[in-house]
Amino acid sequence: MGNTMGNIADEIRQLIQTRILSGQLPRAGKHEMFGRKGDGLPCACCDGVITPQQIEYVAEFAELGAVTLPIHADCYRAWLEVSYSMDSASREWLTVLGESEPVSGQQHG
Ligand SMILES: [Zn+2]
Repeated sequence: MGNTMGNIADEIRQLIQTRILSGQLPRAGKHEMFGRKGDGLPCACCDGVITPQQIEYVAEFAELGAVTLPIHADCYRAWLEVSYSMDSASREWLTVLGESEPVSGQQHG
């Protein structure tokens, strides 16, 4: 555990990862995105209120029945980072699994 003061981004990333793994928060990817003035709604990533002085990003998931999530601009960036890092991690797993499969047919010159 680091004891760096003010390293909020790391805490947010941890929180986002926990929420994605527990199914509380969808992964970034297949979503539509728009920005608007904050509406006093709690952020889907950190639960902090998004004030009218802040920009609120709204992620809309058509696949999930047009679910919309209000997210802070900073949290949105962290959400993307976490989602994509999880994505590449799962691809590595697929590669590992693929290695155990026998190759059908030999390709030779
Ligand atoms: Zn937030």
